[in-house]
Amino acid sequence: MLEAFSDFASLFFPEYCLGCSGGLIKGEEILCTNCLVKLPRTGYIDIEENPIKEKFIGRLPIKNAWAFLRFRKEGIVQHLLHQLKYNDQPEIGIRLGKLFGKEMKDNGFSQFDLIVPLPLHASRKKNRGYNQSEKFAEGLSASLEIPLNADCCVRLKNTQTQTRKNRSERWENVEFAFHVKQRSVIENKHILLVDDVMTTGATLEACGRQLMNSGCKELSFACIAEAQ
Ligand SMILES: [Zn+2]
Repeated sequence: MLEAFSDFASLFFPEYCLGCSGGLIKGEEILCTNCLVKLPRTGYIDIEENPIKEKFIGRLPIKNAWAFLRFRKEGIVQHLLHQLKYNDQPEIGIRLGKLFGKEMKDNGFSQFDLIVPLPLHASRKKNRGYNQSEKFAEGLSASLEIPLNADCCVRLKNTQTQTRKNRSERWENVEFAFHVKQRSVIENKHILLVDDVMTTGATLEACGRQLMNSGCKELSFACIAEAQ
């Protein structure tokens, strides 16, 4: 009976690691210690002028920008992002956000007024059940103790996938995709805009530009992973 209950409970609280499917022990949350240690961090939190920030030079004035992890095909980050985006595992986004939020705080980066996740188009959010970037933002918000607002900005265009587009095609695809609908929420604030994977940065740039044009004081970016 006890065992049956335990099996039943584990349906709701999976006790296996989302990285390697191994069992979790007490105190481990979503990821086992081995996977935690092996997460391929970019190390950009220590580098002021890192490659993510450099991508935006001449495009958009930003204060700071980071990617937490490196995305490689067939690697653990691809696996975790697949769980987050296509396998109904929002918890992994929150877990990664908590981890990176703690690293940000430990490095003295907690000067933001508000965290805003890159909005997902309403129809796509409905299909997935949640916005994966918002889950990452929730974890960041918990560790940094900074409020989160997921409603101030919306995505108007349900753009096609960016995967097979070059940089200028990606920009045309997203240039007018975002709209700030609550200016008063962002006015005169330093906003940390949050996304899942960054490739050319076109999507963050388009959304960031809207926030800037709508009166935000300063802008920083954080994403889960940097695609090579
Ligand atoms: Zn593991």
